[in-house]
Amino acid sequence: APAVARLCSGAAGEAAAAGGDGAMLRHLARKLRASGPVTVAGGRVTVAEYMREALTNPGQGYYTRRGGVGESGDFITSPEISQVFGELIGIWYISEWMAMGKPNTFQLVELGPGRGTLTEDILRVFKQLASVLSKCDVSVHLVEVSPKLSEIQAVMLTGGKVQPNPEDKSAYMKGVSKSGIPIFWYRDIQDVPPGYSFYLAHEFFDALPIHKFQRTEKGWREVLVDIDPEVPDKLRFVLSPSRTPATQNFIQPEETRDHVEVCPEAGVIVQRLASRIEKDGGAALVADYGHDGTKTDTFRGFRNHKLHDVLSAPGTADLTADVDFSYLRKMAQGRTATLGPIKQREFLKNMGIDLRLQVLLQNSGDTATRQQLLHSYDMLMNPEKMGDCFNFFALLPHHRLVRPDKKDKPESKSPLLPVAGFNELLLK
Ligand code: SAH
Repeated sequence: APAVARLCSGAAGEAAAAGGDGAMLRHLARKLRASGPVTVAGGRVTVAEYMREALTNPGQGYYTRRGGVGESGDFITSPEISQVFGELIGIWYISEWMAMGKPNTFQLVELGPGRGTLTEDILRVFKQLASVLSKCDVSVHLVEVSPKLSEIQAVMLTGGKVQPNPEDKSAYMKGVSKSGIPIFWYRDIQDVPPGYSFYLAHEFFDALPIHKFQRTEKGWREVLVDIDPEVPDKLRFVLSPSRTPATQNFIQPEETRDHVEVCPEAGVIVQRLASRIEKDGGAALVADYGHDGTKTDTFRGFRNHKLHDVLSAPGTADLTADVDFSYLRKMAQGRTATLGPIKQREFLKNMGIDLRLQVLLQNSGDTATRQQLLHSYDMLMNPEKMGDCFNFFALLPHHRLVRPDKKDKPESKSPLLPVAGFNELLLK
């Protein structure tokens, strides 16, 4: 089957039935019966706990065991579709680095790097622009929980020459890129050393566990997962009989929707990114499918490039939910400014994708390559494909932006360059 990107949530319809080896299901069933610390009441778990187990359980989690990304995997992502995607993101970082006065050192920190393709493409741009970056000390820091994927990233970025458990750092692995840039791996953003940093999260936040809630006559109730008493080892959704801690903590008082998904872990990570940027400088670029606080039911699974029932054969399929950018903006808590979400096709157009495509087309001799270039451009840009439902969102220090209400006040004295991607790219 041809590789298909994970569809946007509106398309979630028929889910394919699937077998799987059942190990994760048995694990979850044990957990549900045992009423362990994660259970809310009588053998039920939250959707968030279910999703976390299914994706990142150290033994049987989907990312831990399989990883899924790529043409032969279960879903394909923009950096896997075209090198142009990562190159334009590399240019975004250079453009921000220049706009912020060319600090003499920065860390590139990627959350959930998948196969490492995006970092590879960004580092190629850094190498091509070595004369611009010549006096800058660059290092790469990857936050990855999956041992399997960190191995794939190590091969991609260093040729496999890595040192496990280096003594001098909080990293679990380190190596050196082909162009001589040091690379470190961590399990958690909090392990990444402080310092001026450019953060990147592409299709990362959508993989973090969500809680699901439903408005009822008796108030908000959380959607939980339990075992269907009629069918052995079959999971089902049920509503919590009473309020859960999460209904109290995560529903905004002004909420108007009847079904809501909340990803508190995404909120915590955005808070950390915003504090780090406020304190040490830098910027964060988040790219993912999502909405601005309008969608209700986006939890879905993918296996072999097809939609997959989220409750069947956990651990064998990718589970995902749309990113709620309005929630991320709220969680930045004013520590940084935010930009976006802006549609992928607008962001890439602003970054100069059309010109880049023309150059590549001119330089490619054979028809097959040209066809491939046009096809991947269409995948990334077509509003029916990835152009509209994928969004870019950025966190930037306040001083980087003119805020409309401050425009006429004396404190904003220096002329500020527009932020590339969200405006047209102006490289000087
Ligand atoms: N950015 C890549 C991969 C997206 S898949 C791309 O666009 O192709 C999601 C990635 O996040 C995988 O690398 C997965 O192992 C990682 N991941 C999932 N949950 C994580 C967590 N809690 N902490 C760190 N990494 C995580």
